[in-house]
Amino acid sequence: MKRRLTLHFPREAVHQPITYRLAVDFDVAAKILRAQVAPNQLGTMVVELSGDIDELDAAELWLERQGLGINRAPGEIHIDPLRCVDCGICSSVCPSGALQFEPVAQRLHFETARCLVCEQCIPSCPLTAIALVLDPRTADPALPESRSAAAPGSVPRRYPARFGRRPGPSPL
Ligand code: SF4
Ligand code: SF4
Repeated sequence: MKRRLTLHFPREAVHQPITYRLAVDFDVAAKILRAQVAPNQLGTMVVELSGDIDELDAAELWLERQGLGINRAPGEIHIDPLRCVDCGICSSVCPSGALQFEPVAQRLHFETARCLVCEQCIPSCPLTAIALVLDPRTADPALPESRSAAAPGSVPRRYPARFGRRPGPSPL
């Protein structure tokens, strides 16, 4: 199975060969989706881990014991069909193939099961048709968004800046 995590490295842990140890000690493959890690600085890395569920759990426990902060995917990606014009721009930034542009039909196809919730597609959409619908159990009440009519009990997070960086403390 696959699991997408955001890892936060303390300064003293940025030199550790995390992906090597995951592979050798836990038989867990780590695909780095995004990373900002520099010597003697706090680091952040978004990874997709692949492996047996028990090994994944053991690997997560080991990562925590190394002093890393771990965040699981906070919700699901939602594409607003009323805003989307099927331009296909977002598919070019999707690392997992969850977003694919079908050239014959000239339509965007979104395969939810392949989505890693890396959020790279959100700022790529010029029409802000893509939003992260937060799991209400993990939603940050400080975020200035309204509740979603499409998903009762959930909170959509949309980044208004066209091609801009999303707000928030993460450096990625
Ligand atoms: S970039 Fe936005 S408008 Fe274009 S296909 Fe993706 S979701 Fe639709
Ligand atoms: S969040 Fe967007 S870019 Fe990332 S995997 Fe899901 S659909 Fe693709």
